[in-house]
Amino acid sequence: MVVFDEVAREGHEQILYGYDKVSGLKTIIAIHSTALGPALGGTRFFPYQSEDEALEDVLRLSRGMTYKAAAAGLDLGGGKGVIIGDPATDKSERLLRAYGRIVDSLRGRYITAEDVGTGTTDLDVVRRETRWALGNSVAEGGAGDPSPLTARGLLAASKAVAEFLWGSPDIAGRRFAVQGVGKVGSAFVQLLVEARAEVVISDAFEGAIEKAVDTYGVKSVDVGDIHTIDCDFYSPCALGAGLNEKTIPELNCQAVVGSANNQLATDADADRIAARGILYGPDFVVNAGGLINVYDELQGYSKMRALHRVDGIFQATKTVLEMSKREGMNPHAAAVRVAEDRIRDIGDLRRFRRSGDDRN
Ligand code: NAD
Repeated sequence: MVVFDEVAREGHEQILYGYDKVSGLKTIIAIHSTALGPALGGTRFFPYQSEDEALEDVLRLSRGMTYKAAAAGLDLGGGKGVIIGDPATDKSERLLRAYGRIVDSLRGRYITAEDVGTGTTDLDVVRRETRWALGNSVAEGGAGDPSPLTARGLLAASKAVAEFLWGSPDIAGRRFAVQGVGKVGSAFVQLLVEARAEVVISDAFEGAIEKAVDTYGVKSVDVGDIHTIDCDFYSPCALGAGLNEKTIPELNCQAVVGSANNQLATDADADRIAARGILYGPDFVVNAGGLINVYDELQGYSKMRALHRVDGIFQATKTVLEMSKREGMNPHAAAVRVAEDRIRDIGDLRRFRRSGDDRN
């Protein structure tokens, strides 16, 4: 892969390759944008088959973080880190601390957090080498696992969609089909059951299904059928690219609201969903709860403030849906417009120097 061609296409600012011979650390950190603030995004620890695959992933994910932070109205840019390896066998204190030192070399231009393959306790280790690591465990003074706040944001977004479609935010009696009941999906199911919604779930992992069925008394269906269920909301909370040319014609819902990142296989899928008369809640708008929670750590974590801000996803979702209706564009395109408008308008403010801006 020709790196500068890729970077030029997506507009990234900086790519950093890091290596530690002793621990075998191989990492790539991508900073997509710092127009609105430091580039924040988690670290994905994954057994990529090739360096090209890792680079492609970090470029795509870091760009997504720029849009997510901007649409949520946060003073953050977008970045991401990937570590090439199997987290089950390759993770060590030395490796995580070496990674922390590489993150530290960016002096706050990039702030890391958890992602697939890394968790709060790993971030505690990274934090020993850099203060630019968030999502730490509660015992270490951090905000802990962000998943429950991501689920809370999904609930807020679902209510906004309900109000937009049916004139009331009440979701009692509405039917939800939840794909994937891991950390976010199971927390979301709990909130839905508490709100007296009807819930059907599926998961690729039998143990996760049993746990959700036993704990919440919900029904389950085969993993390949969940997106075809007759329901009000389809909620993808597993993997990305689940909304594509094959699955979209099979959807049997009124709306899609889920936590998975990059749900659309291609941008054209947003039009395919709209053409079916289904309302799509843009993933990077509705799943921003975890990021908002982590962001709060930068200001000295306040649970009350984080909850309040996550509840703001209700209004953020409404703003996007209303723009989509007004401008005759699909909700994904409207969300991109909202984010890009903010990056331009607020990012431009930095031309006004403040006293102290020349200190570093
Ligand atoms: P997780 O790994 O805890 O849960 C994912 C679940 O999906 C697992 O139980 C897994 O068995 C299941 N699964 C995998 N493939 C499946 C399939 N084909 N069909 C049905 N189930 C399948 O992950 P998570 O933290 O709950 O995150 C879920 C999604 O939300 C991911 O895409 C993640 O990137 C995204 N997300 C998470 C957060 C967060 O706060 N954790 C924030 C924003 C976005």
